[in-house]
Amino acid sequence: MSFNELTIESALKGLKNKQFSSVELAKNYNERIKKSQSNCFITTTEEVALKQAEQSDKKIASGQGGLLEGVPIAVKDLFCTKGVRTTAASKILGNFIPQYESTVSANLFKSGAVMVGKTNLDEFAMGSANITSAYGNVLSPWKSTKHPKKKLVPGGSSGGSAAAVAEDLALGSLGTDTGGSIRQPAAFCGITGIKPTYGRCSRWGTVAFASSLDQAGVFAKNVKDSALLLQAISGYDEKDSTSVNLEVPNWFANINSNLKGKKIGIPKEYNVDGIPEEIKKIWEKGAEFLKAAGAEIIEVSLPHTKYALPVYYTVAPAECSSNLARYDGVRYGHRTSEKTNSLDEMYEKTRAEGFGDEVKRRIMIGTYVLSAGYYEAYYVKAQKIRTLIAQDFATAFEKVDAILTPTAPSAAFEIGANEDDPVKMYLNDIFTIPASLAGLPGIAVPAGLNDEGLPLGLQIITKPWDEQTCFNVAKAIEDQAGYKLPSF
Ligand code: GLN
Repeated sequence: MSFNELTIESALKGLKNKQFSSVELAKNYNERIKKSQSNCFITTTEEVALKQAEQSDKKIASGQGGLLEGVPIAVKDLFCTKGVRTTAASKILGNFIPQYESTVSANLFKSGAVMVGKTNLDEFAMGSANITSAYGNVLSPWKSTKHPKKKLVPGGSSGGSAAAVAEDLALGSLGTDTGGSIRQPAAFCGITGIKPTYGRCSRWGTVAFASSLDQAGVFAKNVKDSALLLQAISGYDEKDSTSVNLEVPNWFANINSNLKGKKIGIPKEYNVDGIPEEIKKIWEKGAEFLKAAGAEIIEVSLPHTKYALPVYYTVAPAECSSNLARYDGVRYGHRTSEKTNSLDEMYEKTRAEGFGDEVKRRIMIGTYVLSAGYYEAYYVKAQKIRTLIAQDFATAFEKVDAILTPTAPSAAFEIGANEDDPVKMYLNDIFTIPASLAGLPGIAVPAGLNDEGLPLGLQIITKPWDEQTCFNVAKAIEDQAGYKLPSF
């Protein structure tokens, strides 16, 4: 068996049957990462990987081992990893080495996974193309068949995590999703990505962007692998007050793509003006796949959809401006080396040097919408509309088990496109943001290729805590789409 055909599931089998060892697997991935030109990683962790793999081999030999024992996984550089530099792709955290492990990465290691490195992202997870990183942009391994010279973005903000799995630099990866940062890059890179229900994974030890929206999740080559990986990182954590004390189901074992008796909603408001023909087509095809799997397709209405983007781009910057106030040059990371005459001046210089343009833009917007006189008009209003958006979903879920939408309004675009216009870039999140505002689980699954040979994804949204239905419906699409991730 060649290593680059492996999935998490088949790697676990191969390890168990002694076809190869975890150390061999880790060496293979360390080597692949070294050769890669796509800048998926901010920090590689060869030594950590080899050490963890040795321990896994011992456990496997003694018949023990966790859910992911010996499997190489990449970790978004937003999760604090004890003793391993954690930058959030920002200059301001360039020399930050955490003294503690985030709960999600701790869970990952408890399950026996092997960390191959910390992946690149948009600075503080703000972006849709992985172009705002202080450590350079990430290249997608995909090429347009019509314009093979064009360099394509992997999507963002978890662009490094998505591209690493697509390029087979790891068998799976961790991401975070605040408004689409797992689902949109999964779609752009032709892999599966899931953001679970808000509260399913602990946020403790994850660098905060917008706390009421931030949620950890995973990328994998297929739906079953993503279920296994999500199982490993989920669970209650008393250190996060928004973490919910619910048992983590065995999603992996219970995946069932027979959708007989299930009702799937198509939200008419997602048929937005200017949606490209290829996106409409793949959406229709997805509905056909689900019908063939036994589901009934029903039109539903989510009337407040059109407000989702402006609400998100009010709430998220507000929370970001508050969360990022802690980077003051005193407690964390970078401090200006220039001579300053007052504490305020030190703060100002440190933050001016440490943050990139997009982060500064969000801090300014957030500070503005939270300021006296504007708070009621913008922030409070946005929160009220957020409640209406959540209610739209609750009403729709009285009639249907899941909602099917496109993941993103286009396939991956060229590096440099949309960069001059932040609002155009924000439009990328049009289909993913509503579920984020409502705290609902959403999975992105590849459904086919466009006429340039680039992958297009579909999104399935379900009720809170019903990740199982996300996996089941996604599996039905996967089974029928006939899509296969190429070897790059
Ligand atoms: N693209 C969105 C933003 O820039 C979402 C980012 C995310 O989910 N972290 O805010």
